[in-house]
Amino acid sequence: MKRDLRIDNQPENRLGVKKLRVGVLGMGFMGGTHTQAWTRGKSVFNWPVDIELAALFDMSEDSCALNGPRYGFERTTMDWREVCGATDIDVVSICTPNFAHKDMAVMAAESGKHIWCEKPMATSLEDAKIMVDAAKANGVKTMLGYNYMKSPSLLAIKKLIEDGVIGEIVHFNGVYQEDFMCDQSAPHSWRLTKKGGGKGALGDMGSHQVSMAIWLCGPLKEVAARLQTVHQHRPDAETGEMKEVETDDQYSAIGTFQNGAMFTMHTSWLGQGHKMNLGFEVTGTKGAIKFDQERMGEFQLFEQDGNSEMRTNGFKQVFIGPWHSPFGNFCPAPGHHVGFNEMKIIEAGDFVRAILEDGECYPDFQKGLEFESALQAIQDASEVRAWVDV
Ligand code: NAD
Repeated sequence: MKRDLRIDNQPENRLGVKKLRVGVLGMGFMGGTHTQAWTRGKSVFNWPVDIELAALFDMSEDSCALNGPRYGFERTTMDWREVCGATDIDVVSICTPNFAHKDMAVMAAESGKHIWCEKPMATSLEDAKIMVDAAKANGVKTMLGYNYMKSPSLLAIKKLIEDGVIGEIVHFNGVYQEDFMCDQSAPHSWRLTKKGGGKGALGDMGSHQVSMAIWLCGPLKEVAARLQTVHQHRPDAETGEMKEVETDDQYSAIGTFQNGAMFTMHTSWLGQGHKMNLGFEVTGTKGAIKFDQERMGEFQLFEQDGNSEMRTNGFKQVFIGPWHSPFGNFCPAPGHHVGFNEMKIIEAGDFVRAILEDGECYPDFQKGLEFESALQAIQDASEVRAWVDV
């Protein structure tokens, strides 16, 4: 059933404050971070609406019993359709495995709910297009969970690039490594099947890297790449039986952006010793910027000024502080750092602002389709062993 999406028409509480009623789908890693963002967002950004946690879906009865009361959801269910089709819910957080995003998003859109969906958007370009069409046809706002581009550091870097501080971009070198799959006995999961995850490290982690490259430097033009599955079998989590791995463990790519700048990118979940090494170096005609998510409260900036001596010039360290918005919403003291969950609150803030002001979300499903197309081009380039246009 279609709902009236205008917040002005929602009922008020006794203080005259409107409300947004939230359904969270999936209470794993991301379900927890979305729910924390929903519960903290109003106080951080002074949203002019109350947030009500209406319903939680999870596959596990134990999780429903634990997390319903823990976060204060009004009800829990093991049927996601009850949340997506509910008439008393305004927005949903889709925090389930990649293969489940499409059906949930389509049903939520058709019943008039705004959608905050985790990345990658879908397991195929076809599904991503269906999601775009459903959101457009029903006029709902959509936001994808590319949280790393919401950190105060990244927002500051983006502004420096836009202000021309490093000149015209000539190169993006991205690397993203984590070590959670290094051990060959790490269990098989939905992430390792084409149907469940779609792509492996490329979709799971590379989606963050590729989206960040596009956000910072513009659309990709062409790519050559190689995907590789190092550990071809992994044990089933319950039976221990060895199962085939269908997706990649790592990829490397080279290519160009439409503006002519070059890129090199490498992503791996076999990156020994790395916990969250989503990093890059953007080089321009007048300077360069280096960033590593493992040190998310700082970045390195080099500005060519033509005056400093070669023996002393080099990168300087910039610590993030309240002048790098929205750091100050969390903490008044520079260098004291914000963390992963704060990025999710900033993402929720952008989403809520777009709902309340009828504004744009970045990245929405339409932009997500561009990211998915770039990921597909990287995979295609590896399969055909040739340059592919994006
Ligand atoms: P998870 O395994 O921790 O949790 C998945 C949840 O989905 C569970 O609560 C489970 O009950 C539910 N679920 C499992 N199978 C299901 C099915 N068949 N149908 C419906 N629901 C099902 O997963 P996670 O790590 O939270 O990942 C969820 C999504 O978030 C994925 O799309 C993933 O790529 C994304 N993710 C994003 C980030 C980020 O930084 N933005 C980080 C991790 C994961």
